[in-house]
Amino acid sequence: MGRPVVAIVGRPNVGKSTLFNKLAGKRIAIVEDKPGVTRDRIYAEGEWLNKHFTMIDTGGIEPDTEDIILSQMRRQAEMAIETGDVILFIVDGKAGITPADREIAQMLRKSKKKVILVCNKIDTHLTPDTVYEFYELGMDELAVISAGQGLGLGDLLDMVIAHFPDDKDTEKDEDLMKVAVVGKPNAGKSSIINKILGENRVIVSDIAGTTRDAIDTPFQVGEDKYVFIDTAGLRKKNKINENIERYSVVRTLTAVERADVVIIMIDATEGITEQDTKIAGFAHNNGKAAIIAVNKWDLVDKEDKTYLQFENDIRRELSFMAYAPIIFLSAKTGQRVSKMLGMIKEVNESYNMRVSTGVLNDIIGRAVLMNQPPSDKGKRLKIYYATQVGVRPPKFVIFVNDKELMHFSYLRYLENQIRDSFEFKGTPIQFELNEKK
Ligand code: GDP
Ligand code: GDP
Repeated sequence: MGRPVVAIVGRPNVGKSTLFNKLAGKRIAIVEDKPGVTRDRIYAEGEWLNKHFTMIDTGGIEPDTEDIILSQMRRQAEMAIETGDVILFIVDGKAGITPADREIAQMLRKSKKKVILVCNKIDTHLTPDTVYEFYELGMDELAVISAGQGLGLGDLLDMVIAHFPDDKDTEKDEDLMKVAVVGKPNAGKSSIINKILGENRVIVSDIAGTTRDAIDTPFQVGEDKYVFIDTAGLRKKNKINENIERYSVVRTLTAVERADVVIIMIDATEGITEQDTKIAGFAHNNGKAAIIAVNKWDLVDKEDKTYLQFENDIRRELSFMAYAPIIFLSAKTGQRVSKMLGMIKEVNESYNMRVSTGVLNDIIGRAVLMNQPPSDKGKRLKIYYATQVGVRPPKFVIFVNDKELMHFSYLRYLENQIRDSFEFKGTPIQFELNEKK
C-alpha cells in the first residue's frame, strides 16, 4: 500500500507552484542551476483531515514557444497519468481556455483517471460566469480557487481526498524506514530491489505490474516496515521512464531528500565515480543516513586484499562519510542481499537514537579532560554542557563561552568521542554551538 498520489498539471504560469506551496506541509524543493538540468518533479507530503498523501508538481520547464509548451505538457500529462491517483488540472480562470488546455484535457479524459479541473486566480468570493466555459473541457469536477489568496482550498481538498482509492495508505507513517537506492545507471539498483522484493518472506502489496502508478514501494519483513522511494523508474523501465532518464540527476536528488536511509550503490566493475561522490555529498549535507553498497561483487576477481583496496578507495573518496558502513554484495547471486536489509534497520536505529543528557555530558566531560579545548589569544574555549535536541539525524547543542574559539578539528574530536560510546552507525551527527555568558 503506497500513499495516494496527487499530481498537479497545467501550462506554465497558471499557478501550479503557488498551489503546491499552499498545500505542501513540508516542501521538498530541488534547486539546480546547471543548464540542461531542469526541475523534474517536486514532491511534498500533504495532509487533510488526517489523510496523508504525496503531491507531485510535474511542471517546471519554462518553455517559451507554443510547440515546446505542447510537447512539454504532453510529457507532464503522461507523468501525471502514470503516477497520480487524483490529477489536479490547473487552468488560469482569468485567461480562458487555450489550445494547450484543450490538448491536455483530451489526454486526461482518455486516461480514465480522476481529474479535478481547478480554475485558479479567481481572487473573489463571487464566481464569475467566465468560469463556466471551462466545463467545455469535459472534466468530471470543477473547483474554483485562488491559490494566491488561499480561497477555495478546503473545498478542493475535500474533493481530492474523496477520490483516494481504498487500497492506499493514508495513515501517518511513524516507523516506516524510507530508503532511496541511488547510483549510476546499470549499477544494479533495480536488480537489488527486485531481489529483495522477490524474497518470499517479504510482503509487497504493490506487486509489479498490478499498479502502474506507484512511485514508492512499501514492503514489510516481520514487523519491520520499509519503503523504497521512487522505485517506479527503477523497477519498470518502460518507455515513459526511459524518456525521463535524462532528468535522472534531479530525480535522484529528490529521492534522497525524501529518504531516511540512502543506499549509494557502486558498480564493483567500475569503482567509485565522481557522480557517486556528488550524490553522497548531497545525502550527507541533507543529514541522511547512508550505506555504501558495492554491487556485482560476483564479477570481481578476488585476491587477498581486493576488499581492502575497495574499502580504501571508497573511504578516501567519501572521507566526509566515514560513518557509512560498506557492504559488498551481488544482486545476481543474492550474496549478502538480506544482510543489507538488516543493515538498513540498524542504520535507521542510529538515525533515530537519543542519548540522555547525563550520559552525553559524561562523555564530553571526559573528552575535555583528555584533550584540552582550543584557545586563542589567551582565551580558552569553555564547554558548559551539551544536550541532544533532535533525531533523524541526531543533533546536539553544545553550550560554550565563545563560539569563535571552537575549531573544526575539536568538534570532530568530540564527535569521535561520542561515536566511541555510541556508534551511530550510518548516520551523520550534527552540532550547533550556543553561547552562554
Ligand atoms: P506555475 O508556472 O504554473 O507554477 O505558476 P506559478 O505558481 O509560478 O504562478 C504564476 C504567476 O501567477 C505568479 O506570478 C503567481 O503569483 C500568480 N498567481 C498564482 N496563483 C494566483 C492567484 O490565485 N491569483 C492571482 N491573481 N495570481 C496568481
Ligand atoms: P540499474 O540501472 O542501476 O537499475 O541497474 P540494473 O539493475 O538494471 O542492472 C544493470 C545490469 O547489471 C543488468 O544487466 C543486471 O543483470 C546486471 N547486474 C545487476 N546486479 C548484478 C550483480 O550483482 N552481478 C552481475 N554479474 N550482474 C549484475
